[in-house]
Amino acid sequence: LEGYVGFDTIQEQIRKKSLKKGFEFNLIVVGESGLGKSTLVNTLFKSKISRTSCTPGPHIIPKTTEVNSVSHVIEEQNVRLKLTITDTPGFGDQINNDKCWAPILEYVNDQFAQYLHEEVNIVRKRIIPDTRVHCCLYFIPPTGHCLRPIDIEFMKRLDEFVNIVPVIAKSDTLTIEERDAFKARIREDLTFHNIRIYPSGYNYDDEEESAINNKIEQFIPFAVIGSDKEMSVGGKRVLGRQTKWGFVEVENKKHCEFAQVRDMLIKTHMQDLKETTDKVHYENYRQRRLRESKA
Ligand code: GDP
Ligand code: MG
Repeated sequence: LEGYVGFDTIQEQIRKKSLKKGFEFNLIVVGESGLGKSTLVNTLFKSKISRTSCTPGPHIIPKTTEVNSVSHVIEEQNVRLKLTITDTPGFGDQINNDKCWAPILEYVNDQFAQYLHEEVNIVRKRIIPDTRVHCCLYFIPPTGHCLRPIDIEFMKRLDEFVNIVPVIAKSDTLTIEERDAFKARIREDLTFHNIRIYPSGYNYDDEEESAINNKIEQFIPFAVIGSDKEMSVGGKRVLGRQTKWGFVEVENKKHCEFAQVRDMLIKTHMQDLKETTDKVHYENYRQRRLRESKA
């Protein structure tokens, strides 16, 4: 083939390399207790991404009292993904909630510090274990009003350090109109307070990427429902919540937006979340540390 350079094999090369290394993806969930964070973590592990390849998790969810990470290795068509989800205890549950964001920020920075430490080591590991937090799911209580000062404070404090994706917790408790109005109000609040949300707060010069992101932006904040209970619907096992008036299917895009978040995290934006973490958040951290050490 004359003039054939072979660029088209690059994709394949990258694919092979990353298959060998495997993917590491780290997610943190934050929000006050009782909002369904632990349940949603289980939902993620039990949902379609992993149903065939995961070992089942615990069935009773205890109240989360400390920062706790759970990892699952998921294998699909020779791709190995190590998905780690860090569950945090109730955020803002104290009487005095001053600085309640601090432990979360500390956790995020600790992971950066560890990575930096490995990176500047004289004898560097061939592959540095990556525990940096690639995404933070922030749970907003389904009040139907607006963002609370504590929500704004948290997101403003953390948006320089981690990719924040806000979700409306337990959205089955809102009617469709309430949900839409609440979403619109939250979006106004986010804009008003200049809070950097992933992906809209990050620049994409690629047209294709921008188009995908515009689609996603319409959903933010995602109205989610979590459940780790399965029911049989039309002969299929589906995850959902049984109520007196019906069965809410968690993975049904008509019922809630759990599937949209999951697809964004696992299928469409995982690599970009990792890149943004490395190129924006970690880079900021690294530069701050360098400046400090020179001062
Ligand atoms: P966490 O404290 O944020 O980790 O919340 P948990 O996951 O422990 O859930 C607290 C309670 O809320 C449990 O009784 C769950 O069954 C329930 N729950 C979890 N997710 C949802 C949801 O999406 N909708 C409703 N209605 N209840 C939920
Ligand atoms: Mg919990």
